Amino acid sequence: MHARIYILRFPKDTSDKPFVYELVKKFDVESNILKADILPHREGMMVLELKGTRDHIKEGLEYLKSFGVKVERLAAEAKRDESKCFQCGSCTGVCPSGALYIRRSDMAVLFDPEKCTGCTLCVTLCPVRAMDISVSKKNNGKKAREVYATT
Ligand code: SF4
Ligand code: SF4
Repeated sequence: MHARIYILRFPKDTSDKPFVYELVKKFDVESNILKADILPHREGMMVLELKGTRDHIKEGLEYLKSFGVKVERLAAEAKRDESKCFQCGSCTGVCPSGALYIRRSDMAVLFDPEKCTGCTLCVTLCPVRAMDISVSKKNNGKKAREVYATT
């Protein structure tokens, strides 16, 4: 399973199209809406985490582009402050990509930054704010939540 975050900008004549539904039904691509600003007859914007095979996501995005939707990918850089993390394991229950997981042999809470999609679900949940998620150079290394809030 492949997961990535995209900012989608919709032309106003597509505001009533059920794109999120179509991504699942036509392309088997799941989505997690991180931010949405869609109103009837206005240009809209969504920050979406898309999950599926690479080919299915690509086909789904090409489908959206055929309606004039502009697609921009956000690449995440994630770090965990090991001096803060006290291994409580709370974050493993919300991490949708498996980047935060428990190694059963010794119950250690491990973090694999390669699997992180930058969804930020772990950031506010972590009681000691051990997780630090930034997005790609395009956004000048801003914190992911800051980018989603100002997009
Ligand atoms: S929620 Fe925070 S402190 Fe707990 S295991 Fe995850 S990163 Fe570590
Ligand atoms: S931001 Fe946190 S919850 Fe989201 S994929 Fe990365 S490690 Fe998992």
